Amino acid sequence: MVSKFEPGLYIVAGPIGNLSDLTPRAAELLRQADVVAVEDTRVSAKLLRHAGSARPMIPYHDHSSEQLRAQLVDRMAGEVVALLSDAGTPLISDPGYKLVRDARAAGRYVTSLPGPSAAIAALTLSGLPTDRFLFVGFLPSKEKARADALEEIANIRATLVFYESGPRLSASLAAMAGRLGDRDTAVVREISKAFEETVSGRLSELAVRYAEAPPKGEIVVVVGPPGEAPPPNEEDRDAALREAMARLPVSKAAGEVAKKLGLDRRALYARALELKDE
Ligand code: SAM
Repeated sequence: MVSKFEPGLYIVAGPIGNLSDLTPRAAELLRQADVVAVEDTRVSAKLLRHAGSARPMIPYHDHSSEQLRAQLVDRMAGEVVALLSDAGTPLISDPGYKLVRDARAAGRYVTSLPGPSAAIAALTLSGLPTDRFLFVGFLPSKEKARADALEEIANIRATLVFYESGPRLSASLAAMAGRLGDRDTAVVREISKAFEETVSGRLSELAVRYAEAPPKGEIVVVVGPPGEAPPPNEEDRDAALREAMARLPVSKAAGEVAKKLGLDRRALYARALELKDE
């Protein structure tokens, strides 16, 4: 067989539920690869059959031996090596980064055949802002480690994307409500499969809903960014100005309060003059 693909590493995105989402280019690559590095040969055998491929598979994880990784990198010099995950895009909460790192360090040709990823699909379904997002992946399962992980990201002004499982969902949503505040959230399940579902609500409502009925299937939780801090009311503004004016000249006091409360300096200066004359 003469391959139309040059030797190297091909990062191949597979479906996340619906086999028809395998791209034609990915299917062709899987038919022509010299070897397909996979997480689980039984899972990937199904996809290879669907693609009409009978190419050999080799189990690969980031904790595979250095020796196996070195062998694969060696093979990329003259052969087409495909990297495939059980679902979706390799390296996204899946193995592969060490293989890519070593292949690039060795000067091998490395390319990606893009396709589905549950994180991006869920984000598009969530109805939450998509301009800035943080992919968090799986939270730790132990309570303290989970709380610490949430604390670390509580102030990030971005939509947050988590991978979750049904049995842990309600406890995770409750921990998120406690640490992140009661934000708008979407629980997105079974994307591209028969029982696909997106349920929106506040974190606390969703925690109660799923405590009563833990859901089946694969899940992504998308949590909206923290709300804008409410502007300070007039009383707080005047109190801050009075306090600053007791220490500073009027213009400096207005400048300090403008910075502290995020208000317009000139408007504050005018208000400070009024207060001074009272
Ligand atoms: N590499 C994959 C990707 O690109 O999305 C993710 C692999 S990670 C080990 C598996 C997790 O992805 C699942 O536990 C679930 O949180 C999420 N996931 C995968 N397929 C999904 C689907 N069809 N619907 C919702 N979530 C899915």
